[in-house]
Amino acid sequence: MKILVLNCGSSSIKYQFIDMKTGVVLTKGIVEKIGLKGSFIKNERFDGDKVKLEGEILDHQSGIEYILGLMMSQKRGVIKSLEEIDAIGHRVVHGGETFQGSCYLDDITIKGIEDCADLAPLHNPANLKGIYAMKHLLPSAPQVGVFDTSYHQTMPDYSFMYAIPYSLYKKYGIRRYGFHGTSHSYVSKRACEILKVDYQSKKIITCHLGNGASITAIKDGKSLDTSMGLTPVEGLIMEKEEIDYSSLNTLLNKHSGVLGISGISSDMREVETAAAEGDERAILSLKMYQYRVRKYIGAYAAAMGGVDLLIFTGGIGENSPDDREKICENMEFLGLEFDKKINNGVRGKELIISKKESRVTVMIVPTNEEWVIASETRDIVEQMKTVK
Ligand code: AMP
Repeated sequence: MKILVLNCGSSSIKYQFIDMKTGVVLTKGIVEKIGLKGSFIKNERFDGDKVKLEGEILDHQSGIEYILGLMMSQKRGVIKSLEEIDAIGHRVVHGGETFQGSCYLDDITIKGIEDCADLAPLHNPANLKGIYAMKHLLPSAPQVGVFDTSYHQTMPDYSFMYAIPYSLYKKYGIRRYGFHGTSHSYVSKRACEILKVDYQSKKIITCHLGNGASITAIKDGKSLDTSMGLTPVEGLIMEKEEIDYSSLNTLLNKHSGVLGISGISSDMREVETAAAEGDERAILSLKMYQYRVRKYIGAYAAAMGGVDLLIFTGGIGENSPDDREKICENMEFLGLEFDKKINNGVRGKELIISKKESRVTVMIVPTNEEWVIASETRDIVEQMKTVK
């Protein structure tokens, strides 16, 4: 089965086309600046062939037409006809309390996603544009929605409720939902698979530290608590989100986080370089970033009555030895013995970075959200076939 994974943002579409039998990503890329000046598509094929094409891309549908055209092109393509796309998996940001897991997209579930748009007015409408476009362009292919929020639907009420009038929860669904669920789920399960331990009986803390950042406490195989709340802005300090819905949203989402504090960049590499050169605000932003992660680790260890496994993932978690080291400093009281030597210089690979005698195992597990979306899509499409 070959699956097209789409992650549609307000002005961008990330895509991967995956052969599920071999696990090979046949082609992947990004369409950027949709509806803006200077739109382009960047594509990379499995054999390393790379291309960047500029062109007027006015909306999501034409962006997807571009992607499909490239996938079928003689020179850079990977398929001969659209029939070779067996299914489409969409990242959907908000599933509210309606979606406890991934689902087949039909008129009823699409309406359900539309109804959740109030909770994620910047994200769900963009996700829906991709769904509508594919429905129009390839009506025979099954589509599946995979939600950022659904993994966290196991949170108990005392964890997800805000201390605000209860009526606001009942009336408007104002509560903690959490995001990055596909990533937290994938890296925690993958770590247990690598360690050959039982996922259902472990206390795990997953730190997804990327452009967006969140941390999750997973107890007995279920999300117990997570740092992102009603919206993704709550919790850890992030790099940036490319949205400008209103001035407050712009302030919180574009001008805050590491960029807002350091005044340098939303890219952690640049902030780390500036800090190394002695820039005070860069140093402050790194200290704040690491402090918040540490604070959540302590809180979640207390909430779970201990921790067996601490996992780093996301662009920063996977690639910044320095951040990992600072976050894990002086954690011996928790039974965490960090191995600085093993950690040093390691980027982007699965590895245990705690000492053998450490009670808490610390690991790097690179995330793979597209693979999770593709796997969920395959499973749901196969289930549908057996039901039929
Ligand atoms: P993600 O959203 O998971 O793709 O993470 C992207 C972010 O990871 C980038 O914006 C960088 O700030 C960060 N990153 C990537 N490589 C490094 C690195 N070597 N050191 C520190 N941060 C990094």
